[in-house]
Amino acid sequence: MNAGRRATMKAVVIHRHGPPKVLQIEDVPIPSPGPGEVLIRVRACALNNMDIWARSGPPGGRPVFPWRPRAFPITTGGDVAGVVEAVGPHVDGWRPGDRVVVNPILSCGRCEFCLAGEQTMCLDYRIWGEHTPGGLAEFAVAPAQNLLRVPDHVPFEKAAVPAAYCTAWRMLITAGGLRAGEDVLVVGASGGVGTAALLIARLAGARRIFAVVGGPEKARKAEALGAIAIDHRTTPEFSAVVLERTDGAGVHVAADPVGAPTWVQTIRSLRRGGRMAICGASGGERPDFDIREVYQRHRRIIGAPMGNVSDLRAVMGAIFAGAIDPVLHTVLPLAEIRRAHEIMEGRQHFGKVVMVP
Ligand code: ZN
Repeated sequence: MNAGRRATMKAVVIHRHGPPKVLQIEDVPIPSPGPGEVLIRVRACALNNMDIWARSGPPGGRPVFPWRPRAFPITTGGDVAGVVEAVGPHVDGWRPGDRVVVNPILSCGRCEFCLAGEQTMCLDYRIWGEHTPGGLAEFAVAPAQNLLRVPDHVPFEKAAVPAAYCTAWRMLITAGGLRAGEDVLVVGASGGVGTAALLIARLAGARRIFAVVGGPEKARKAEALGAIAIDHRTTPEFSAVVLERTDGAGVHVAADPVGAPTWVQTIRSLRRGGRMAICGASGGERPDFDIREVYQRHRRIIGAPMGNVSDLRAVMGAIFAGAIDPVLHTVLPLAEIRRAHEIMEGRQHFGKVVMVP
């Protein structure tokens, strides 16, 4: 293994939960790829809520993956694009210099769910970069079987978005069953998953795409992507707007990654038989609502936390083909990781925050 004959690299290291100042840029050993693994020179790594929670502590004080505690110090970062630097033993098909993005889904490949192609239902499901050392560093080691080739014309910053885009694809297309001509509601539309959902809904031929965002600037940006923006700060009961603009019917499919603060309004925005896909609960996980609003109107609520390999390949293929152009809020050097966390935590962003070593 030869990473420019260096032994150490810069990495973002978290030693304890706390505010952004606990993020440290440190010199750590460059990892070595084991059998079936590759060493990647990280060229871009997008942040996700998981990176924020790994630092701040889990939302609500409850771990998202309680069966997978991870001991400090940790380096996170599950959304990595870069160049193969070295390959470990028993790796076929990859060589130094290859441009790649890492599929962050880790699964056993043997359980009944994996065999059915449902890798995110795996009994041993984990996320690379969250449950393993990740890519907020100059180099990272990943399983060779998790690599996708990135075409030369695609910038690394635009390729380093698998988690959010795979999740949004899963929510709208695979779980939500979105078809051309249907109406869509995207809640939390300024986040990584939200902006991805706006682009995917448009690609899928959605008729009206409603985007719930906070503030006039984000509303303008959502409208520039072809959505009908609703500012929840001035219109907290956003379902009224959705119903008014759909002649009282509501939308066919809704994507709500926010949770408790928005669930009631999202459910009320659904037409009869409408589908609501959820991937997380960034705003709180204990909504207070009347379940009659779900069953009496044949509405469905579908869990979609990340997508399968097939979802990932579909959405990355659309990105590589230019059919989807990922929305990036900003690209920052790794040294500005604290500011990046502040942007994410302060919900100042519209699209992905991408770090570049
Ligand atoms: Zn499995």
